[in-house]
Amino acid sequence: MGFSFGVLHLSYKFRLLLVLALCVMVVGWASSNYIMVALQETPKAKGLLDNLVLEREEEEEEENQNKQMISTMKVPTVKSTVGQCPARSPYLRGPSKLTFKASLTLEEVEEENPQVMKGRYHPAECSALQRVAILIPHRNREKHLLYLLEHLHPFLQRQQLDYGIYVIHQAGNTKFNRAKLLNVGYLEALKEENWDCFIFHDVDLVPENDFNMYTCGKQPKHLVVGRNSTGYRLRYQGYFGGVTALTRDQFSKVNGFSNNYWGWGGEDDDLRIRVEMQKMKVMRPSPDIAKYTMIFHTRDRGNEENGERMKLLRQVSRVWKTDGLNSCSYKLLSVEHNPLYINVTVHFSMQPKVS
Ligand code: BGC
Repeated sequence: MGFSFGVLHLSYKFRLLLVLALCVMVVGWASSNYIMVALQETPKAKGLLDNLVLEREEEEEEENQNKQMISTMKVPTVKSTVGQCPARSPYLRGPSKLTFKASLTLEEVEEENPQVMKGRYHPAECSALQRVAILIPHRNREKHLLYLLEHLHPFLQRQQLDYGIYVIHQAGNTKFNRAKLLNVGYLEALKEENWDCFIFHDVDLVPENDFNMYTCGKQPKHLVVGRNSTGYRLRYQGYFGGVTALTRDQFSKVNGFSNNYWGWGGEDDDLRIRVEMQKMKVMRPSPDIAKYTMIFHTRDRGNEENGERMKLLRQVSRVWKTDGLNSCSYKLLSVEHNPLYINVTVHFSMQPKVS
């Protein structure tokens, strides 16, 4: 009994010890596990923390750079690029068959173009890529002007351009001077808007395809490759007449047109020589796009062929610096802002002799 009680007693103590030992082992195992996990997790956590710090530093750096950019950025002199019109307008249609109704009136064309005001238009949906002034030299061609306005307004609107149409009217009976009228158009148009691009446009040529963009490029552009009257073929390699597009700077660089071409012919060849002398190159759109319909007419009185044009063309390199925009003298009679165009009327007094 004493033995069995002792055994029991021992076994009780032993069991107690066993339980204690077990507890120690469990606690030890659990804590070691925790340490292991902690050891494994720490680099991850450290990495996460590091990443967060890095990201924040990068953000701060970017913020600082932005602050620096803002502080050094100049106020833009060109229009904001926010909401710019696409490089290719979604409204372009390609070739169109042109018709010219004999009974067409100015009122009808005005009614068809309610968005044009005082000869100007800009797209409402986006900011146009260029501000374009269309310059049309004019005298006694009212019907041609009407047809051109009828087709040109919707054409330019489909191209999503910010544009103004200037008709430069030569008053009086002195011989017609297309080039000088275009110089006047350029100078007068720049008094009301800092146009990016100038389109020098004959009144009797109507574009047939609105892929023929009325915008300026890095080089001067000649937009009339072909016309119905010549079987849509380029008249000659150096031909630079009819419709041309030059930026404000390109035109100023060549000192504009010569003022000395009275009557028909030569002034466009003269401009091409000026362009080439400035190491610029005439660019043309593809012939299937650059097509025009020429409204038939006979040679106007006061615009007879200029017999001196070959002589003038030989002296371009000698005179271009002093004959052009910087020497264009004229008497401005009026500037009227009609609904569909700005009418600039000028008088040219004398016809200088070719030396
Ligand atoms: C004239 C140009 C004219 C061209 C095409 C040339 O002889 O000099 O002014 O544009 O012919 O008619």
